Amino acid sequence: MKAVLVIADGMADVPLKELKRRTPLEAAQTLSMDRIADLGICGMIDVIAPGIPPGSDIAHLALLGYDVMEVYTGRGALEAIGSGVDILPNDLAFRCNFASVDKDFNVMDRRAGRIENEDAAKLAVAIEESLRDDPPDVGDILFKSSVQHRAVLRLSGPNLSPMVSDTDPLKTGVKVLKSRPLDNSREAKRTSEILNKLTQQMHEAVKNHPTNEERISRGLLPANNVLIRGVGQLPEIDPLTLLYGIHPAAIAAVPLVRGICKTAGMRLIPVPGATGTYETDVIAKAKAAVEALHSYSFVLIHVKATDLAGHDNRPPKKMKMIEKVDALTTHLINNVDLDKTFIAVTADHTTSSIKQAHSGEPVPVAIMGPHVRVDDVKEFGERPCMKGGLGRIRGKDLMPILVDLLGKAEKAGS
Ligand SMILES: [Zn+2]
Repeated sequence: MKAVLVIADGMADVPLKELKRRTPLEAAQTLSMDRIADLGICGMIDVIAPGIPPGSDIAHLALLGYDVMEVYTGRGALEAIGSGVDILPNDLAFRCNFASVDKDFNVMDRRAGRIENEDAAKLAVAIEESLRDDPPDVGDILFKSSVQHRAVLRLSGPNLSPMVSDTDPLKTGVKVLKSRPLDNSREAKRTSEILNKLTQQMHEAVKNHPTNEERISRGLLPANNVLIRGVGQLPEIDPLTLLYGIHPAAIAAVPLVRGICKTAGMRLIPVPGATGTYETDVIAKAKAAVEALHSYSFVLIHVKATDLAGHDNRPPKKMKMIEKVDALTTHLINNVDLDKTFIAVTADHTTSSIKQAHSGEPVPVAIMGPHVRVDDVKEFGERPCMKGGLGRIRGKDLMPILVDLLGKAEKAGS
């Protein structure tokens, strides 16, 4: 038996006036996801707990069956791992943003106009050179740009502490923050001092860089600062193979989800055309999943852009993206052996188009496959799934349910 789990990021939403009080998922044409609901069992998932809006990081850890209160150690390390940066125990990893600041260090744009990968890579080289020529007082340091404005900073060595605050003020028009120690330890004080020095050094390394001068001449904002946030350390989690006896693989484009899957011991399947954007090639993803099911017993497919449309409050765009996810599931239904394969669809959280943020409502889930106990739900959506046979479960309950369907669950008691 095999299973494929489709997670559409932030797909769940709230009823919207412009959609006649339907959610984007209810309003979109989703014949294949409706079929999964019709032939399967449905329910609602409180990904962490009722009323708690989850970040995508802990949401995915929960959907993979982990107790996030126990294992979560910050987003930085997970994103770093997903960007191809190795993190060892005790390393500190930070998420960084190339940003634009004025001469007084006020943030003009936290994402430097969503700088292109090529420009960010050139600036990252300048930062690396500066760190090599004038190394900060730390065992080892690595800075790497990933996608657009995003980058990763890794500090290694003794006497470091994750108990430090971010330099990212999370809004524009205010000054870049100074990192502060969050406890009284020497290590936290030292680490925050290193971050503040680094902020200045990285600014010096890129402020007059030819790439920035060229950006200004094109009428673009210069990427003349690096905001540091989201410190994380390597989470100590057991791989899914050990926990559930499955052979897992993952298809995901965004570094964060890739990092989580890799940390969970899943093989990352590269898919050309999978971009994490609206243009992502969902059929290429589905084809890769069908292929992967020959070698792996559990395949996760993550689609990011449903979430972006919610954050941007673009319901028609969100519906379109949901329809792309539906096309992905159509390909799965048509190409996997339905006598031996379970197909599950869900979201990692609700992204409310009204709040333009993650919110705490539960997300719908549907699972079809051989011998699933079918309920009366005929359509996939927030409203219909409330009446489903799975009832209302927690995120961490989903994996045990799938593992049980796969016939791999261990009996409790004797
Ligand atoms: Zn998410």
